[in-house]
Amino acid sequence: MGWARELIEWHARRRRFAQEWAFHRDLATREFESFGLSHREARQLAKRRLGSRSVHRRSALRHLRADYSALFELVPWYRLKVSPFLGPAIVMLVLTVLLAIGPHPLDVLSNSISLLPFTPARHVERFVPLAPSGVVPMGFADVTLWCFALIGMARIAATPKLRVHWRAWTFAVATLFLVIALGAVLWATGLQLLMQKRWASDTVQGAAIVTFPFAYVGWAFVALRIWYRDLLGRCPVCLRRLGMADLRGNANDLLIAPLEKDTVCLRGHGANVESRWKDTFESGQFTASPI
Ligand SMILES: [Zn+2]
Repeated sequence: MGWARELIEWHARRRRFAQEWAFHRDLATREFESFGLSHREARQLAKRRLGSRSVHRRSALRHLRADYSALFELVPWYRLKVSPFLGPAIVMLVLTVLLAIGPHPLDVLSNSISLLPFTPARHVERFVPLAPSGVVPMGFADVTLWCFALIGMARIAATPKLRVHWRAWTFAVATLFLVIALGAVLWATGLQLLMQKRWASDTVQGAAIVTFPFAYVGWAFVALRIWYRDLLGRCPVCLRRLGMADLRGNANDLLIAPLEKDTVCLRGHGANVESRWKDTFESGQFTASPI
């Protein structure tokens, strides 16, 4: 827990300024009190002698490496980049932003829940402007996202390293569910924004509404690809991103010496070989010193 220790040290350096300032202020106050001044007068003179606390504090914290820019440098970018939590955190952030900008966030949630089986469907009476307001047609998203889920599950089942390690498939299913939830919210919010009011130009609004499902399917393809590539690039044991990539072979050779990419888990859980023909993870083939 090196990062936690560095954070505690950063906080201790900040406290050190407060303690030193209090020490010098009390010293100066006592000195003025020894001249026969009252405590209040001595405090005021001490304050005048020491000058502005905020100016001293800013400069001291900079020198002690305890200001906010030092805190920013403490953030372990590398560890953050390889962490399994980065992707889900970004998806959660986008989900929250979509719910915040949507005109009817509660309807977005109930529309999204209606995609689950055995939940009542919400019927739209009029499309533009939407009636009841906030309820959008979910049929297209329903089909797209169920296909997304089935393709995703099939890919998990067809990839040995995801199927064999329980952490890898739990992570894969959880992230798949999260991306599908993002897809549902994206569809409901997008249609609410496009259809809740009648625009000045019917042609522009019609074109936007027709284009939206195509863009949505494009998004689904890209999201599925990114999700799957991300899973393949992770160690199935600790879920951190594999590193130390080493390329072998020739990109033009398909059978004799195809291009292969070797990566290893930097925690020593194993090595991964990826080529046009295979993507395998060999446990315990590589042992690195733990980071
Ligand atoms: Zn690992």
